[in-house]
Amino acid sequence: MSQVNRVVIAGAGIGGLCTALALAKQGIQVVVCEQAPSLGEVGAGLQMSPNALKVLRQLGLEADLSHFAFVPQHAAIRDYKSGEYYLKSPLGTLAEARYGAPYWHLHRADLHRVLADSCKRAGVELILKAAVTGYREDPERNQVFLCLDDGREFGADLLIGADGIRSKVREQMLGQEQPRFMGQVAWRGVIPVSDLTVAVKPDACVWAGPGRHFVSYYLRGGDYVNFVAVEERSDWQSESWREEGDVEELKRAFAGWHPEVSDLLNAASSAFLWALNGRDALPTWHQGRAVLLGDACHPMLPFMAQGAAMAIEDAYVLAQCLSRYPLAEALTNYERVRKPRATQIQQLSKGNAGLYHMHGGVLGKMKLNALQAAARLAPR
Ligand code: FAD
Repeated sequence: MSQVNRVVIAGAGIGGLCTALALAKQGIQVVVCEQAPSLGEVGAGLQMSPNALKVLRQLGLEADLSHFAFVPQHAAIRDYKSGEYYLKSPLGTLAEARYGAPYWHLHRADLHRVLADSCKRAGVELILKAAVTGYREDPERNQVFLCLDDGREFGADLLIGADGIRSKVREQMLGQEQPRFMGQVAWRGVIPVSDLTVAVKPDACVWAGPGRHFVSYYLRGGDYVNFVAVEERSDWQSESWREEGDVEELKRAFAGWHPEVSDLLNAASSAFLWALNGRDALPTWHQGRAVLLGDACHPMLPFMAQGAAMAIEDAYVLAQCLSRYPLAEALTNYERVRKPRATQIQQLSKGNAGLYHMHGGVLGKMKLNALQAAARLAPR
């Protein structure tokens, strides 16, 4: 049914590569243009929930990824000082039984590498140092052309903008508008377990404290612990994956927290720091022969650990729609299915900031258990 034989994708992040692989597996010719000069060890840990794992399994990646995965035993929310549990929900083998797929922790670089290798094997053409500036439609030839800053153009039946929160494809489709700083910054680091003196529990753990929270979980079979430390601030507005922060400042911000947190921070010699930005729901995700996906159309606060998972779901649904319907209908159906879900998760993620940061004081604490259970587990 598909009228699409050739697709060009802007951005080789998790969303762009998942989409490229899903389409290549349908026999579609795929070109991906990525601005970075290489695909490297970028980012840190990702919590991959069963909804995302179901897609990765469908794409045939589960066996390769399993070598790098860590299986958490619980999703936990604990008090920043006493360590008291507000929520302890079993994962481990129960996740597969309850949700139909496992809950894993992966390093972003491992997921990215496995995806890139699979794309190569499936015949996807990946072009690096290819900075997208926009696109132009050619209705007479039923083509869309992706334009690069060096003057090159790539024609295709469909252009997919998977170029992240500052998407050039989104900008051309909907006009220039800066993403909004959400008043929070995130520090992120990975610590070898051999550098720790206090044992970290094998859980996906959120440490909730006033005005800030801390997330800790194991990576790479348990050899490393990933941390994300979030604090409310107004003076940092970069969201680069590679911006280093002052780790002493980070330690001061979380001084006096539970020994599991302090021990992790004492072992940290560096951490990436960036502002958390967002956008309101967009009026549309597609126009003509161009469509958006992942952070390009629904960036979200990482407080449900669902940003990459939503990009992965987008990839699967878009590929399914293209295989079933003519192009215009496929894009309409993709947005109809995906937008309400992504928007809901965007809003729930934003709501979680207030809970994790105890803005409701004691009442907030009391609500935490019930609300978190609903927020984290219901939409999978
Ligand atoms: P991106 O990963 O941003 O990829 C976009 C790609 O496009 C990049 O490779 C970029 O270089 C390229 N690009 C950009 N502009 C251009 C251009 N002009 N030309 C060519 N290429 C371009 N999600 C989870 O599911 N689980 C988690 O546990 C989790 N934790 C997180 C923790 C933190 C602190 C943060 C900030 C995010 C977290 N996320 C998590 C969210 C997740 O990282 C993102 O939602 C996800 O990476 C989005 O993927 P994407 O492919 O849409 O965009």
